[in-house]
Amino acid sequence: MTIRVTVWNEFRHEKDTKHPASTLYPNGLHVPIVSYLQAKGLEAYAATLDEPEHGLTDAVLANTDVLTWWGHMAHGEVSDKTVDKVQARVLEGMGLIVLHSGHHSKIFRRMLGTTANLKWREADERERIWVVERGHPIAEGLGEYITLDKEEMYGEVFDIPAPDELVFVSWFEGGEVFRSGCCWNRGRGRMFYFRPGHESFPTYHNPEILQVIYNAVRWATPHSFAPTPVVNVKQSLEQISPKEPVAD
Ligand code: ZN
Repeated sequence: MTIRVTVWNEFRHEKDTKHPASTLYPNGLHVPIVSYLQAKGLEAYAATLDEPEHGLTDAVLANTDVLTWWGHMAHGEVSDKTVDKVQARVLEGMGLIVLHSGHHSKIFRRMLGTTANLKWREADERERIWVVERGHPIAEGLGEYITLDKEEMYGEVFDIPAPDELVFVSWFEGGEVFRSGCCWNRGRGRMFYFRPGHESFPTYHNPEILQVIYNAVRWATPHSFAPTPVVNVKQSLEQISPKEPVAD
């Protein structure tokens, strides 16, 4: 089965000719991600905020195994109806990968139930992303760490529920640390948050970063599921023995 990925991008900074993102990603920062996933043999398509229904129609969502999400300046413009539909699909089993400033997206906060607030600074500083779970499929093929010469700093405390699995921890030149690769299970779905990806830097042209996204897509792809459990159980599996009435 070919994995079907929808790469969602807000796609606003890149259209501002005065913003560095317009030079780094002239057709949108989703393009290098889509191209990389396609080159790896996945069926990958882009969807963006300004398309009808933000590009996430019922048909698109029904045919998506894994959705990746990048947003920053226009989180509030994503309709609650779309957030409801994406949440329902994750609970049914669709994978969700939230990238960088997507930490403040409606869907990420909805799935986690916390503010997802964090510390941040734009100072062109070095980031070293350490692999802390060496056997995890999302770390497959990586070395001990990934170095990015210039990134935005995100620091703890990151207001999230403790991740079910923590794959990466970032160190920043200025001294902060951050849980930068976090996995959660929600319903039948798997979620992964991956920190790097500030729009003013060429992070999504970095092959190691793209490999992590590819690994995460494979990890989050729905596999076979247990059947939907019966919730109103009239017949017990074992015979329940009659009990003597308890004396007052
Ligand atoms: Zn940023």
